[in-house]
Amino acid sequence: MLALVLLLPALSPGWGFFAHRTIGQVAIYALPSAMQGFYFRHLSEIVRLITAPDERREADPAEAPKHYIDMDHYGDNPFGDMPKAWDKASAKYSTDTLRKYGTVPWTVMEVKDQLTEAFKQRDTTAIIRLSADLGHYVSDAFVPLHTTENYDGQLTNQAGLHSLWESKLPERHIAEYKLDSDPGHYLKDPQGAIWQVVQESYGFLGATFDLEEKVTRDFTPETKYTYSHKFGKTRRSYSDAFADAYHKEVGGQVAYRLKGAPTMVASMWMTAWKDAGSPDLDALLPKKQTKAEKAELAAQIKTWNKNELVPQEKLLALQKEKAIERPDEIKSAEEAPATPATYEAATPAAAPAAPATPSATPEKIKVKTKGGEAPKQKQKIKPQKKVDDGWN
Ligand SMILES: [Zn+2]
Repeated sequence: MLALVLLLPALSPGWGFFAHRTIGQVAIYALPSAMQGFYFRHLSEIVRLITAPDERREADPAEAPKHYIDMDHYGDNPFGDMPKAWDKASAKYSTDTLRKYGTVPWTVMEVKDQLTEAFKQRDTTAIIRLSADLGHYVSDAFVPLHTTENYDGQLTNQAGLHSLWESKLPERHIAEYKLDSDPGHYLKDPQGAIWQVVQESYGFLGATFDLEEKVTRDFTPETKYTYSHKFGKTRRSYSDAFADAYHKEVGGQVAYRLKGAPTMVASMWMTAWKDAGSPDLDALLPKKQTKAEKAELAAQIKTWNKNELVPQEKLLALQKEKAIERPDEIKSAEEAPATPATYEAATPAAAPAAPATPSATPEKIKVKTKGGEAPKQKQKIKPQKKVDDGWN
């Protein structure tokens, strides 16, 4: 009998939840002290809400394009041709086209402006929600596969690459990364800054695809993939062995993007706050910061600076869902210890060498499409699979 195998590669639409949560937490440490008390009080809430934009995608068809921009749709010199400002870009390409191929840099600007307004209104709920949203979209712009129509390698027989890069690799190798991101800073030109991020991401695409091909030479189809069976369907995904071999090639790149994102998130938050006239955020806290809370923040910043969040079990993304969803009371050291991390703290291995600079000529990157394999109608928005990766 012929076994019918349905190939359903996992596709998660942004950094996986794990990476998003990591970025949200680290961004808080990268803030200036005038903002830190407020954000630290709401740390677990922000870490929880930062994945909300991905969760909205199923219910809201207008949500998905906010997370990416297919720059290769715009020709061989997309960054030269594309106006950075929304008005000029939509005048040139039409609003429909921009929405169709993704709006992440403009979405970042829009949410940043909304956050500025929330700071002006001293609206705590909106500040938290919009900070989480902004953190999400900024982070998505750091993922190379969010800048191409070949977003899952589906046009080059590399389907599944998306979640491999942004979920499986960071989840398996987080202990090797340096999470001590640079502090955030005020952005005089936030629009230019987010476009720079997109352009760097685009510059990494060549390596993202080519190194997968290179690693594939050492594997057979049997060793490259694993198959899982659920509800009568078979799902194909990259094997652990392949993920680790691929990580040897692109791990530096993943680590570099994961380290850069929190700095940019903190910078965007800070820019919105300053543009709102630097309101006193401590005054927004119904209860003043306690000594224990201040001490815990100082301790966590120290842990972060020493790049020991993972071995010290302070990374919320590695803790059980409950830890993220519990109320924002920061427990002092004397109280119950933090929920035990599900992660077995490994000896942090040497961090992979981060590339010194992003590839210099991103405009030239050609996203390969192999003749005949490209489906005419690419299904852009797949129903989102609930992330079930064992980390949360
Ligand atoms: Zn996303």
